[in-house]
Amino acid sequence: MKIYIDGKFYAKEDAKISVFDHGLLYGDGIFEGIRAYNGRVFRLDEHIERLYDSAKAILLNIPVSRAEMAQAVLETCRQNNLKECYIRLVVTRGVGNLGLSPDRCERPTIFIIAAALELYPQKFYTEGLSVVTASTVRTSPAALNPAVKSLNYLNNIMAKIEGKLAGALEVIMLNSEGLVAECSGDNIFVIKHGRIVTPPIYMGALGGITRQSVMGLAEELKADLREMPLTRYDLFVADEIFLTGTGAEIIPVVQVDGRVIGDGKPGEWTRKFISAYHDLTRRSGTPI
Ligand code: PMP
Repeated sequence: MKIYIDGKFYAKEDAKISVFDHGLLYGDGIFEGIRAYNGRVFRLDEHIERLYDSAKAILLNIPVSRAEMAQAVLETCRQNNLKECYIRLVVTRGVGNLGLSPDRCERPTIFIIAAALELYPQKFYTEGLSVVTASTVRTSPAALNPAVKSLNYLNNIMAKIEGKLAGALEVIMLNSEGLVAECSGDNIFVIKHGRIVTPPIYMGALGGITRQSVMGLAEELKADLREMPLTRYDLFVADEIFLTGTGAEIIPVVQVDGRVIGDGKPGEWTRKFISAYHDLTRRSGTPI
């Protein structure tokens, strides 16, 4: 495995970051999770744009251009001879001293890892997931906006651990108003009487690239999709629920907090979106 760090490639054993890097000391940095299918990187431009938006929001100046960053992602896939993989692109504040201030961090650290991905076990794509609501609320957009894909994932990790303790592989996170925000690592879509609803980003969600793809597919499929606030009640009485994320793709949910969703099986719309998304990932992307 060859790992990109600041313009050079290193063997996995030699791919090392300083203990003074503020990405490690403070979670001060940003990242992207990207997928390649069939020799093409899916939605590369969208991921690069979100990365630079995250950087701008936290006043981090990425020292390479967007085009160079995109090339670095493609080159990492090439160096590893991968046609299907998960790519982790990370930009940290860089090496500084032990103080909080980023002033002493002279240059952001950029690293890229391309590797095989462990998805949820296949049976959950056909049978659906059982999820629970975490009591850990999603970080308020007024504190640290979840729209920024920052290295500060402890909020999500605490929720994920709650899910694990309850025997659930994913958890729904509410915002401080008690409205549905997203999941620990996925966005959420709810279907009732043929209308598909996902919470607006300002509820406290990441603007997911898969979410964006589903919105595009909804137009192609002539589905009625809207962004609207959702409560747990809306989840309990839904006909169908599915989650979206680069790693998870589209995964059905058949149980929430012990309530069976719809008839307890992945619904028709969910299956349509899974199949349309599968086709989309294979027919588009930037060639490696
Ligand atoms: N929300 C959170 C908190 C995430 O970490 C992710 C990415 N795993 C998503 C949503 C989904 O975003 P994307 O579709 O861009 O992967």
